[in-house]
Amino acid sequence: MMKHLVLLLLATLSLGLWAQEVRLDRIEPPNWWTGFSNPGLQLLVYGKNIAETEVSLNYPGFTIKKIDTTDNPNYLFLDMTIAPETKSGMAEIQFRIKNKIVARYAYQLKDRDEGSALRQSFTPADVIYLLMPDRFSNGDTTNDNIAGMVQNTNRADPDGRHGGDIKGIADHLDYLKELGVTALWINPLLENNQTKYSYHGYSITDFYTIDPRFGNNDDYGKLSGAIHQRGMKLIMDMVFNHCGSGHWWMNDLPSPDWINTWPEFTRSNYRAGSVSDPYVSTIDSNLFVRGWFDYTMPDLNQHNPFLKNYLIQNSIWWIEFAHLDGIRQDTHPYPFKDMMSEWGKRISEEYPNFNIVGECWMNYPASVAYWQKNALNRDGYNSNLPSVFDFPLYDAMTRAFNEPEGWNTGILRLYEILAQDNSYPNPDNIVTFADNHDVNRCLDSQNNDIKKLKMALAFILTTRGIPQIFYGTEILLTTGADKGHGTIRQDFPGGWPGDSLNAFAMKGRNEMEKEMYQYLNTLLQWRKTNKAIHTGQLKHFIPSDGIYTYFRFHSEEVVMVIMNNNDETKTIETKRYSEFLKNFKTGKDILGGSEIGDLSLLTLPSKTTMIIELKR
Ligand code: CA
Repeated sequence: MMKHLVLLLLATLSLGLWAQEVRLDRIEPPNWWTGFSNPGLQLLVYGKNIAETEVSLNYPGFTIKKIDTTDNPNYLFLDMTIAPETKSGMAEIQFRIKNKIVARYAYQLKDRDEGSALRQSFTPADVIYLLMPDRFSNGDTTNDNIAGMVQNTNRADPDGRHGGDIKGIADHLDYLKELGVTALWINPLLENNQTKYSYHGYSITDFYTIDPRFGNNDDYGKLSGAIHQRGMKLIMDMVFNHCGSGHWWMNDLPSPDWINTWPEFTRSNYRAGSVSDPYVSTIDSNLFVRGWFDYTMPDLNQHNPFLKNYLIQNSIWWIEFAHLDGIRQDTHPYPFKDMMSEWGKRISEEYPNFNIVGECWMNYPASVAYWQKNALNRDGYNSNLPSVFDFPLYDAMTRAFNEPEGWNTGILRLYEILAQDNSYPNPDNIVTFADNHDVNRCLDSQNNDIKKLKMALAFILTTRGIPQIFYGTEILLTTGADKGHGTIRQDFPGGWPGDSLNAFAMKGRNEMEKEMYQYLNTLLQWRKTNKAIHTGQLKHFIPSDGIYTYFRFHSEEVVMVIMNNNDETKTIETKRYSEFLKNFKTGKDILGGSEIGDLSLLTLPSKTTMIIELKR
């Protein structure tokens, strides 16, 4: 901020001589790094009449290749080249009018950290904990209201800001590590200077700045360090489809085609399946991609080449700046799909092991599978998106445990979805979940039945995929179904100074909450150590009589999972599973803690899951 002020002052002083005001307000990305495989970098330069200036810089290896202007004199786009041997340092970019310098910018090229390119991303060995930063914990009440931010904190309003922040997350990292999750997906933390609903973070008004009500960029970098110190990983939530209507560029767009416009406000039809639909009409396809997500969410035109570069570089900037271990991309099918494919490709060129999960919200495996990297799509499309969320499996879980067992109903729903994994190029790298910030909490969709919630969690933690758990599940946060987004995203009890209950501590939990915490904690800590779950194959048996049995196996470990979805206790003869069990005599019941001496008959109470580590 200070830097901008100095630049502005300098520009204004020098410009007394000219009638026309020239200013430099910002350059984005604000810095870059040496040593990327792509030597190119495109800078967005913004300031009053900045396009009137001549730009120069003198730095060995760092050069201006091309300068582009748009119809708006307040923008310049500089195509830079960073030659392979370029050293890190400060490069002064100078802006001149009639040979007089009217503005300067000290552009920093940093060294990348050792191992930056080969960082390991999140994998099926991880369990992701999703939390909404405004609703998790308020670690710093001094940032609840900030001058210049148009929405203040009002905890009484379910749709308002509640004051949670980065400090609140940092304060509870030990809690999360002890719980046993290994990666954090935090809903967007970037600035959302919007008058309403700014708490959720999906209306970004500055792609390079953490919202001051959450903290600052430095706090985010430190949070990442503290997460890594505990052996955990950080996944950043990104949004390329839209920005917030309060974004700084909305009053002065670089060009009219920066956003997709309509004669009057026009919503997307939200039919994500239309993108892969071979029979889609032009009007439907157009409406889906170019329609706006909401009044306050202008639809970005990623076909504008400058915006495309802007967004791609923005994500690389955050990976490098905050040492990210992964990205979650919001509304993934809504931006133009060719651009999204190029984005995935460019990320993988810099970080070959980097994992990205896209929100492709559709209920059929074939529709979702279209979006996973290397899918054999009839139209030849390759998303370059490594991972997708398993919405079909989530949807199946909302029915499987609730409805009566029948030929086509009950636990069979889970089997039927997994039996379609043939569609996915890499089903192990799919993120499974029982709920998230956009749907009813699992406990609510399971009719407030803790046994069913436990089944859903045991299932996603042992079947294929990378499980994701929504914050508060471990202490039975519940709201009642269909009460709206603001309510689903309720405050974690104990996260605010003065909260009457503190569920972060054992003594703040009631008996049922203690039981749930214990169940999940046992499962998570065990999962951390089990290679068969991390990298093993899956084989399952067609559900019968409300019983679903599957095995996860690799060379050293074999895990057997049995689910009893009946309303009564069942004793199961295991002869049918002999292709696995023939090599094993005993096992350990992971949740019960006991040894099982005889695997031939197993008894499971109603609506329970048994997880057995088999022993020879
Ligand atoms: Ca706060």
